[in-house]
Formats: sequence, C-alpha cells, structure tokens
Amino acid sequence: MSTRADAAPLLQVEGVRKYFPAAGSLPWSRARGYVRAVDGISFVVHRDETLSLVGESGCGKTTTAKLVLRLDEPTAGRIMFRGQDIKTLRGPANRRYRAGIQAVFQDPWSSLNPRMRVRDVIAEPLVVNQRLRRHEVEERVAQLLMAVGLEPAMASNFPHEFSGGQRQRIVVARALSLNPALIVLDEPVSALDVSIRAQTMNLLKDLQERFGMSYLLIAHDLATVRYLSRRVAVMYAGQIVESAPAEKLFAQPMHPYTQALIDAAAPARPGDGEQRAVVGGEVPSPINPPAGCRFHPRCPFAFDRCSREAPRLVEHDKGHTVACHLY
Ligand code: SF4
Repeated sequence: MSTRADAAPLLQVEGVRKYFPAAGSLPWSRARGYVRAVDGISFVVHRDETLSLVGESGCGKTTTAKLVLRLDEPTAGRIMFRGQDIKTLRGPANRRYRAGIQAVFQDPWSSLNPRMRVRDVIAEPLVVNQRLRRHEVEERVAQLLMAVGLEPAMASNFPHEFSGGQRQRIVVARALSLNPALIVLDEPVSALDVSIRAQTMNLLKDLQERFGMSYLLIAHDLATVRYLSRRVAVMYAGQIVESAPAEKLFAQPMHPYTQALIDAAAPARPGDGEQRAVVGGEVPSPINPPAGCRFHPRCPFAFDRCSREAPRLVEHDKGHTVACHLY
C-alpha cells in the first residue's frame, strides 16, 4: 500500500530564502543590509534521479546545499522531505532525516579524520545510528569498500595512505553506509586530478544504478553536470533562472545566462580544456542586486523592460522553465 510519503517527491524546496546580515551592518541599526544568498527558489528532486544546481561561485548553490542538509535554517520558505517539512522534525524523525540525506564535499581531506583508520571512518555512522554487532560492522565496511572499488584489506589504513581519488571513494563509502535516499554532492570531483575525475563520475553513476538513491549535485563544471544529471537548474544571483531536462538544456539553452555558461565551457580550440570567463561585467552584489532582471547589467539582449520588471519563471516546454522577458 503506498503512503502519502511515497507519493510525494523525495525532496521539495518551496520558495526558500536565506539572508545573512551583511558584514559591517550594525545589529541595532535600522538600515541593516542583508546578503541575499538564496532568494526565493523552488525545485524538486525525485527518487532515483540527479538534479544539478549550476552557476558561478556565489550564486547560492552551496548555501542551498547547506539548507537541504540542515546545516543552516532558511529565512523563509520550506523544505519538504518525503512530504514532511524538515523544520518540524524532532527526535527520531530528525535522526532518520539526517541518516537519509548524506553529503560528499569537494575536498575529501576535510571529511576524513586523519587519525582514524578507514574502518572507523566508514563505521562511525553505523555505530552511531544502528545497533550492529562488531562482526556485522566489519562485514558492512568490507561491502562498502568493495562497492566503491577499494580492497577490504585497506580498512586498517589511514587516510594519508590513499590517493586523492581513493580518499573521495572512502568519503562516498561512508556516505553510503546508512543507505541514504539522497546524497548531496557538492563539487565532488573538482578537487581531483583531471585524470581520475571520469573514474569517480562513473563510480557515482554506477552506485546510483545499484543502490537507487537520488543525487543533488552542486557543480560549476558543466561536463560533470552533463554526464551525471537528469535535470539541471541554473542559478544566478540567488535565484533559479532556468531549469530543464539535461539533454534539452544543453541542446537548447533559452536563458542568455545559460547560453553564456555553455559557451564558456566549450573549448576554444580542440584539446583546450580551459574554461573561459562566463560573460563580461561583474557578478552582482548579493546585498544590493540589480532591479528587474538581475542579469540585465551583463545581458547582451537586455531591453527597457529588463531593468524595470523581474521576469517570472514560466514553463515554455514540458519541464523547461525560464525566467526571461525574451520569451
Ligand atoms: Fe536578458 Fe532581459 Fe532576459 Fe534578463 S530578462 S536575461 S536582461 S533579455
């Protein structure tokens, strides 16, 4: 029998804002400024899919990841997991939520305690959340190491004995230990050597097929996004400006900012792996974003209306939404 929780999207983000007091603004002053890191975004992540959030640094994607992970609380809006507002979760329900959503961050070093053996690193969430016997923990650690392509015998080694790519595999094994429904991947391959990025992306894709979890991928590298995602949402200055199935977004980007991102990611010459500047002009201040369309000071297609009126996100084709007055 299916329940309401089964019918709801796995993760639903509705009108979420996150404002931080701006540095230098005085707590007692009426004229306080706020950094509008995330400014009214909505999206869903379905079961077994990958949704990517892309955009330049400072666009709000990492803040969004932190809100989903409950490392921070939204200023407004709500985040629903399996149909329940995560703000209302307490006690066992909150522990189940934290076990059900795991994270893999950019730098595996920051996630690994250098004084802990890999066995203990991977077993820690199991020991904290599940009452397993010692031999069951050992078995589970061996299974997880094999799942990420490492030898079970490596369990007694320390993190410094592994390469960067292997360390990221250990972090992934730890994230998998509690069978999460969703893993937040925050720039999971950008700190790795180019030569092992593809292997790590293949591993992430294989694991998703085997274990059936969803990914919320935060990335600025469009090659990673294109390879791993089913759907993509493009963020600019704290807002989503376009979202679409990945194939469609890369084949027919509609928003001028998305077009610029994709143009900048294309190699200038064959074999040229360098990413070029996204678009001329300055990234807008998150304290005082431009009126109207926030992209208008940089947009080559801007016209009168763009500086006066903020465009709404409108669906133009099945699952393809864009916020731009050109459409
Ligand atoms: Fe450019 Fe205007 Fe579209 Fe904004 S609304 S992206 S300024 S054309």
